[in-house]
Amino acid sequence: MEKIIIATKNIGKAREFRNFFSQLPEKYEIITLNDLTNLPEIFENGHSFTENAAIKAQKIYEATHQTVIADDSGLEVDALGGEPGIYSARYAGDHDDQANNQKLLNNLSKVLPPERTAHFITVLVVMGPHGKIETAGRVDGVILDHLQGNDGFGYDPLFYYPPLQKTFAEMSPAEKNKISHRGLAMNNLIKAWPDYIKGKNDENTNLQ
Ligand code: IMP
Repeated sequence: MEKIIIATKNIGKAREFRNFFSQLPEKYEIITLNDLTNLPEIFENGHSFTENAAIKAQKIYEATHQTVIADDSGLEVDALGGEPGIYSARYAGDHDDQANNQKLLNNLSKVLPPERTAHFITVLVVMGPHGKIETAGRVDGVILDHLQGNDGFGYDPLFYYPPLQKTFAEMSPAEKNKISHRGLAMNNLIKAWPDYIKGKNDENTNLQ
């Protein structure tokens, strides 16, 4: 069975990838960075989600010669010129969700609701013996002036999704996966996968 490495240590993300891949007729063994040793140190010093995902995918592919899927996601707030963007995880403090949310609220304190539009983006980059592809997903919403909801992570309690009249922190995982940036990027990947493994993708890159 072909192995696919998901470039994450996050067990929740790995579970989502397993669910998505279980829709395919071919069976894959999905492993994560928790299952690998001796990997090189990776500096995500790109200038975009795509560059950062590609840096991760390439480093791990070079070290393992197995198919790798790397993702990079973040929140872009229009009134802040796209901030926090690629710095979403460490906007105020390293992976400190509470501090990040507070900083976002402070920076938007003078911005009125019609201007509080934002979107989450996910880029997935796949590199492996079959070549390279990338897919993306985006979801639009608005940033509330208070935290609302107890589930999820990161900016979920501030990100209000008008079509369902809920924040991401008020949705079940299944509800969020259907409309979220990550869910959409994974769906796009699943659609592109059959052509990718046949080597028919436009973005095929010779990595040898
Ligand atoms: P990652 O690339 O998926 O690790 O996401 C980077 C950062 O973006 C996270 O640490 C969060 O701060 C933010 N983020 C990405 N996706 C989400 C989401 O679905 N909900 C809330 N915050 C998110």
